[in-house]
Amino acid sequence: RRALGSLGKSRAKFISAEETTGVTFDDFAGQEYIKRELQEIVRILKNDEEFQDKGIYCPKGVLLHGPPGTGKTLLAKAIAGEAGLPFFAANGTDFVEMFVGVAASRVKDLFASARSFAPSIIFIDEIDAIGSKRGGPDIGGGGAEREQGLLQILTEMDGFKEFTSQVLVIGATNRLDILDPALLRKGRFDKIVRVGLPSKDGRLAILKVHARNKFFRSEKERDALLQEIAELTEDFTGAELQNILNEAGILTARKDLDYIGREELLEALKRQKGTFETGQEDSTEIPEELKLRLAYREAAVAVLACYLPDPFRPFTETDINSITSQPNMRYAETAGRIFARKSDYVNSIVRACARRVIEEEMFGINNMCWISAKATLEASRHAEFLILQTGMTAFGKAFYRKHNDLVPNLAAKLEALRDEYMRYAVDKCSSVLREYHSAVETITALYVKCLISVGLIPSFCADILLEKGQIEASEIWDIYKRAPRIPQPAVNP
Ligand code: ADP
Repeated sequence: RRALGSLGKSRAKFISAEETTGVTFDDFAGQEYIKRELQEIVRILKNDEEFQDKGIYCPKGVLLHGPPGTGKTLLAKAIAGEAGLPFFAANGTDFVEMFVGVAASRVKDLFASARSFAPSIIFIDEIDAIGSKRGGPDIGGGGAEREQGLLQILTEMDGFKEFTSQVLVIGATNRLDILDPALLRKGRFDKIVRVGLPSKDGRLAILKVHARNKFFRSEKERDALLQEIAELTEDFTGAELQNILNEAGILTARKDLDYIGREELLEALKRQKGTFETGQEDSTEIPEELKLRLAYREAAVAVLACYLPDPFRPFTETDINSITSQPNMRYAETAGRIFARKSDYVNSIVRACARRVIEEEMFGINNMCWISAKATLEASRHAEFLILQTGMTAFGKAFYRKHNDLVPNLAAKLEALRDEYMRYAVDKCSSVLREYHSAVETITALYVKCLISVGLIPSFCADILLEKGQIEASEIWDIYKRAPRIPQPAVNP
């Protein structure tokens, strides 16, 4: 066995490897039956020969599915920890976000790394990002890319037959419904375990796990308080329960108290639930500047969505009631297939630029922040997709098999062409935003007015709620249609 440290640098970027996780089944509380089922797998993994003699083989794949925060990652780590095996983790989204052609080779890398340390565990979180059903409409790009990655996973899982190269693949998803059925066939992910929301007893048990390193006045008081919280937290996930205890700990420290008390726990619960009344003291936690940036981001995305509607996913009349790490416009998938033209692909590049363009415009290039960071990546991905996979550009007159090993002058050609599309997209996007500047400002003001906060702002901006009453997409359409426009010179592709 080689030391884990020898994992190449390029791999280390997307694979996180641990000699062993140190997590045990004791760290997972509630839903005891899940542990019982998985414990059996651990026993097989540990005494491989004994079980082999009896003809009992370990499943090749275990699929954990259920809502986010219910402990799927924790369980995967516990299997590795209990069996004392190395743990190789990757996220499905990391496979598809990169340069076209990379997904399959990353999957290969992941399996090769795990195999060289076999027996070992592979964990692929958000496996739906790469393993969703094939053949659906796909204008966002990355479809063919995903398919290559998925095929590679299937090949790899079918590949290892002998026990000596035993690698257990654990996948996690909250979208079992969109997984490609090929993944679920015998010999692949043939053990499917649902990890659901905990029951009341389960919640109490989870709270107890996370109270282990916290201070309470007495054991008796702790148990009574946790019991009370367990009763008030129907539909909470393990992750949310853990947050309540952490938040209570922070509040306790802030008040300079020695023990977590009822008041802190209830306050933490309230924060977790996000039930702030406006006007309350805590509700001003989003810094004004961040509010403004988020509001501009939403406004720019909205205006571009109105100007260049996506025929595949027109935006709907839904209430917009939160701001997440991704911009907010809600789209409806069109059921029927639509005839996609080159301009549709080009428009998707333009739309993807909106966040980046507005932030630079309003705040200056030296004053950018993380909220538009992904826009550039997304826009480039759309451009690469158009160039490499649709055959609709000059580049597409020839078909190049190995995208990831482009010979130097081809790579340069691709880059030049991509730059051209990106330049056009940015110019077009700025021009639209300038033309509709008044609409941008009006929509921004609307968002700023509606933004309230819930508790801490995580760096990925997960949970900023808009005030009740919300914003409706129809309101945004209205503003867009009525706003005075400032004519701009034409931007040509
Ligand atoms: P998922 O992978 O399902 O999104 P995670 O495993 O990442 O969820 O859960 C996040 C954290 O929440 C875990 O690290 C753990 O601290 C806590 N947690 C979630 N479910 C449980 C549980 N059943 N028991 C104990 N802790 C839990």
